[in-house]
Amino acid sequence: MLVVMQANASEEEIGAVCKQIEALGLKPHPIYGETRTAVAVVGNENGIDLGSLELMPGVADCLPVTKPYKLVSRELKPDDTILVIRTPGGDVKVGGAHIGVVAGPCSVESREQAFAAAERVKAAGVGLFRGGAFKPRTSPYSFQGLGLEGLKILSEVRERFGLGIVTEAVDNESLELVEQYGDVIQIGARNMQNFSLLKRAGRSRKPVLLKRGMSATLEELLMAAEYVMSEGNYNVVLCERGVRTFSDHTRNTLDLSVVPAVQRLSHLPIMVDPSHGTGVRRKVRPLSRAAVAVGADGLLIEMHPDPDRALSDGMQSLSPDEFDTMMRDVRQIAGVLGRVVN
Ligand code: PEP
Ligand code: MN
Repeated sequence: MLVVMQANASEEEIGAVCKQIEALGLKPHPIYGETRTAVAVVGNENGIDLGSLELMPGVADCLPVTKPYKLVSRELKPDDTILVIRTPGGDVKVGGAHIGVVAGPCSVESREQAFAAAERVKAAGVGLFRGGAFKPRTSPYSFQGLGLEGLKILSEVRERFGLGIVTEAVDNESLELVEQYGDVIQIGARNMQNFSLLKRAGRSRKPVLLKRGMSATLEELLMAAEYVMSEGNYNVVLCERGVRTFSDHTRNTLDLSVVPAVQRLSHLPIMVDPSHGTGVRRKVRPLSRAAVAVGADGLLIEMHPDPDRALSDGMQSLSPDEFDTMMRDVRQIAGVLGRVVN
């Protein structure tokens, strides 16, 4: 249920509503929107009578939320969430008029490789750097990432270039480390329904980049985000990264139509990852352009200083020069739409 506060409700009145919800044994989630504050009450499986809330000072209305996902849904928060990612180089915004780009290699391979990539990411005017230290690989014999050493390299990148760090956590143990060294916790496609990991990310104070599972429906994606938010972390950005289909000219099929579908149902920003979404280098630029044209709130791009020698995902990684060209294109398309690219 959603307790909608009056436009002029005071902090004390909002606080009293939250206390009353807790007194009933439930969890309040205050949502501060542009035009109104609402307090969501979730987890009322036993149908506790919430009638008392309607009569409290400052309360305008109590509305049922009809969707299975609550905190994620637009019913609950009509205006777009603009995620603000704090980086040493300044805030990077994702959502609303802001298109956030995350770029860098698939994996951190060495300090030299990460620095070479970061230099070009920074030069392209992009504020967020990616690079996996813990890699979920299909084969146990493939490069698994540098682990903690990789995170330390990423934090050097952070200090040296002022870039925010986006990196994947694959389990609770790596999540603690990612939380310590990174700025955004990435949950990968293979872990989109790892519910204990989602809950752990929900208890973190760092923003979460949640990738769509390779055979996840829209509702499953939104429910995964709900897991994170239900634990109190409202800083979630979704990411479309391609799904499995019969189509075999690309590694995955990038489902760009999910972008407007998500935006209709949810206030959360959604990025697109055309690198994993296609698996093919020459398809990354056209699909980046398409992603921005369709309204994506961000792009996740694999870029490697020497793609042909990459230890993972070289086939889909752009060279730094190709990355520059792509960025030029997407900035122009964003401008037509009245949006800015970080
Ligand atoms: C990645 O971003 O490097 C990655 C492994 O992506 P996904 O989880 O989408 O496969
Ligand atoms: Mn990759």
